[in-house]
Amino acid sequence: MTARLLIVGPQGSGKGTQGVRVGDALGIAVVSTGDVFRAHVKEGTELGLQVTSILDAGDLVPDELTSAVVRDRLGQADAADGFLLDGYPRNLAQVMHLDQFLGGRDEKLDAVIALIVPRNESVARLTARAAEQGRTDDTEEAIATRLGIYERETAPILDVYRTRGIVDEIDGVGTLDEVTARIFAALEARGIVAPSAV
Ligand code: AMP
Repeated sequence: MTARLLIVGPQGSGKGTQGVRVGDALGIAVVSTGDVFRAHVKEGTELGLQVTSILDAGDLVPDELTSAVVRDRLGQADAADGFLLDGYPRNLAQVMHLDQFLGGRDEKLDAVIALIVPRNESVARLTARAAEQGRTDDTEEAIATRLGIYERETAPILDVYRTRGIVDEIDGVGTLDEVTARIFAALEARGIVAPSAV
């Protein structure tokens, strides 16, 4: 099934986990900019060295670098017939960049999954993840920075996509399976159906 999707939600909303579930079920490439950056940091590439301190502080990587990474990734063969973007675009400049890039390929986003999770729930989940996974950007300070950026810069991108009628707001509180089921119900209403469900 060809689908071009974006999943948006505050850190700790479960967007990474849900993104992989949805992408795998639909058989489309899952493109997480956070994962790409973390892989570069781990491998110690030049890009990794450039972004390490930015990630640790919970700040945004500069738009030009991020957009170049996304262009490169979406240019790979497995993203030709659909993809799910997780974590990009994250501000209005990136929305414009993605519009331009997709427009050049005669493509557009089919749906934007917006996971709604109250701030206290996000903070609780991130704090628990910090204890379990030891992610270097799950410190109390970086968490506050990331949630602040989400509210100031990322939430407004939903208004742009709302005017296009492609946003599905999904209650992100519940078990993983409950949230996944809500997402698929919304996608099905748009005619986007996982092959196994056909
Ligand atoms: P995430 O896993 O989506 O929470 O991303 C982890 C970190 O990667 C973020 O806190 C940013 O430092 C960086 N990052 C991921 N996506 C973007 C983006 N679209 N623009 C700028 N920085 C990003």
